[in-house]
Amino acid sequence: MKKVFLSLGSILLMGTLLGNTAEAAKVKIGMTVDDLRLERWQRDRDIFTAEANKLGADVVAVSANGDSDKQMRDAENLISQGIDILVVIPNNGDVMGAIVDQAHQDGIKVLAYDRLLTNSDVDAYISFDNEKVGELQGKAIVEAMPKGRYFMMGGSPTDNNAKMFRAGQMKAVQPLVDKGDIVIVGDQWVKDWLPEEAMKIMENALTANDNKIDAVVASNDSTAGGAIQALAAQNLSGKVPISGQDADLAAVKRVVDGTQTVTVYKPIPKLAKEAAALAVKMANNEKLNMNMTVNNGYKEVPSLLLEPIAVTKNNVKDTIVKDGFHSEKDVFGK
Ligand code: BGC
Repeated sequence: MKKVFLSLGSILLMGTLLGNTAEAAKVKIGMTVDDLRLERWQRDRDIFTAEANKLGADVVAVSANGDSDKQMRDAENLISQGIDILVVIPNNGDVMGAIVDQAHQDGIKVLAYDRLLTNSDVDAYISFDNEKVGELQGKAIVEAMPKGRYFMMGGSPTDNNAKMFRAGQMKAVQPLVDKGDIVIVGDQWVKDWLPEEAMKIMENALTANDNKIDAVVASNDSTAGGAIQALAAQNLSGKVPISGQDADLAAVKRVVDGTQTVTVYKPIPKLAKEAAALAVKMANNEKLNMNMTVNNGYKEVPSLLLEPIAVTKNNVKDTIVKDGFHSEKDVFGK
C-alpha cells in the first residue's frame, strides 16, 4: 500500500515539476548592459545568463558600449522582440528611466540591475549597498594616510552609483577635512569609468600639484588602474594610497603587490544569481522578497541590496580566493 502511495506521490510531484519547468521555459529575459568592455560586466552577464538558463529562461544580452543613445535603441529592440522582462544596467540612469513607461505599455516589468533607474516607475532594483562601498574605500585610505593632500577621483558622472560612492567616501574623509588634517587638492569625475581617461586626469593632477598628492580616493578598479599608471610614471606607485572596487583580477594583483591599497569586493555571483531569480519571478508576476526600498526621485523602489567587503593585502585569501572569485594561482602566480 505504502509503495503505491509513494509512487503516486512521485508521479504527481514530477507532473508539477514538469509543469513548472514548461511554464518557466517560456520566460524570455532581455538584458541591456551599459558596457561589456569592462571585466566586471562580462562576469555579471555570464553568471546571470547561466542562472536564468537553469531556471528555464532564455536571455538576450546586448552591450551598449557606453553609449546611452545606443542603449535606448537596444532596449526598444528588445521590447519589440517580445521579451517578458527587461533588465537594465543603465549607462545613464536618468536617460534610461524613460524606457520604463515604454516597457509597461507592453506589459513588461523592468528590473534595474546594479544601477538605479532614476525618476521612473521602475519595478525593482537589485544592487550592493553602494554608499557602504564608498565608505569602505574612504576608510581604508584615511587609515593608510590620515593627513595630507587628497585627490578625489569620481566615477562616471552619468552613473547614479558614482554619486553614492562619493557620498560614502565623504563620510570617512570629510571629518578629517573639517579637522584640517586633509586638504582636497582636486576632484574630478571619469567619463564612462575608462582607465585611459583616469590616467589623463591623474597625469594632469600630478603636474598641477608638483606631484604633491599624498592619497587618491578612486571609485573603482578600472579608474584606479589608469591612475596608478600615471603615478608609476612619476615613481609614486606604492607610495600614494589609492582605492578601487570590483576585485578585478589586475586590481587584486596590485593589492597583493602593494600598488593599490584596497579594492571593494562585491560577490557578483550572488548578485547575478539573485537577479536572475528575481527576473524570472517578475516575469511570472510572483511575489518578491526585497529587503528595503530606495527612493529614485519618483518613488520608493522595492530593492534588494547586498553587502560589499573591503579587501586589502591581509584578507585577499579569506575573501576573494576562498569564494573562488579568483583562484590562488591567478592572484599569486602559484
Ligand atoms: C558599478 C561598479 C563598476 C562601475 C563601472 C558602477 O556602477 O557599481 O562596480 O566598477 O559601474 O562599470
